[in-house]
Amino acid sequence: MKRILITGGAGFVGSHLCERLLNEGNDVICLDNYFTGSKSNILPLIGNARFELVRHDVTMPFFAEVDEIFNLACPASPVHYQYNGIKTIKTSVMGAINMLGLAKRTKAKILQASTSEVYGDPNIHPQPESYWGNVNPIGIRSCYDEGKRCAESLFMNYHQQNGVRIKIIRIFNTYGPRMHPNDGRVVSNFIMQALQNKDITIFGNGQQTRSFQYVDDLVEGMIKLMNTGDDFVGPVNVGNPGEFTILQLAEKVIKMTNSKSKLINLPLPQDDPLQRKPDISLAKDKLNWEPKVPLDAGLQKTIEYFKKFVTN
Ligand code: NAD
Ligand code: UDP
Repeated sequence: MKRILITGGAGFVGSHLCERLLNEGNDVICLDNYFTGSKSNILPLIGNARFELVRHDVTMPFFAEVDEIFNLACPASPVHYQYNGIKTIKTSVMGAINMLGLAKRTKAKILQASTSEVYGDPNIHPQPESYWGNVNPIGIRSCYDEGKRCAESLFMNYHQQNGVRIKIIRIFNTYGPRMHPNDGRVVSNFIMQALQNKDITIFGNGQQTRSFQYVDDLVEGMIKLMNTGDDFVGPVNVGNPGEFTILQLAEKVIKMTNSKSKLINLPLPQDDPLQRKPDISLAKDKLNWEPKVPLDAGLQKTIEYFKKFVTN
């Protein structure tokens, strides 16, 4: 049994991780400032004697005795991370410094939730970990992309200079229950629009691609990575290689919800990556991991979850 700190634990992914690690018998400290997360995500866990909830911002130092740290605190939806770009950079960079400092002092193992966005708008497809990426350092996505890239650099430097036991996971687009209904990401947007028979907002011509991973597969990958030996630090891609155009996703959601929604086209945001698909050879080899949940099955569960937010 371990004492585990999860920053961003009240968010979409963090809440699933809290639940899973508690169920495995660990003590879990969930730290969050509730910017994009909410107490409702972790409500069923409150009251469990092994669960502690802390309102805290990772840009400020935090002290606790822990064995493992999962560093997830950071808004993940473009709408939310662009709302206050400076804060997004501070969260990624100062948050990483504070959590790495904590890991150094307590000798805890620490995992960084990095992202496929470190590859930017990639010229190599699918993306292996060896690809250095194509990021616009001054574009509207840079607060997130460069913040996460700097965090990866901090992790490697703390590992090499101070011997901190680190793990870096590069997460590809993940969806599932407990995404915020107004989160702004494509899966939640399309499902909410379809359930209300509202227009489905396709940005650009909808030919850009993404590879969608169900949250349970991600949580499994995160835990497997944390449990690898100290010599394997990553970075490692964790995502579902099934690749779909945004138009295909919209059509699938309309069909599965039996919706009367129509498709409309809105301008493609600046620097929106045209294609994305993980090369997961390393995860297969080092973690013995691959995704198990197909898109249709994951979408079905997510649609059921979002129905409770729709009154019509
Ligand atoms: P989310 O927005 O639902 O969760 C992020 C959580 O971090 C929220 O609970 C938020 O309140 C909290 N937070 C934000 N800033 C904070 C701060 N300064 N101090 C303390 N807490 C703060 O997003 P998510 O999808 O659950 O993403 C979790 C992590 O995984 C993020 O680091 C994200 O970058 C990474 N990631 C997610 C995806 C995905 O598709 N879901 C893809 C790549 C990477
Ligand atoms: N997108 C869209 N309509 C929406 C929201 C998003 O067409 O209502 C597109 C967006 O332009 C991008 C893709 O869907 O090409 C994925 O967007 P998301 O914000 O989910 O994540 P990203 O992978 O871009 O960070």
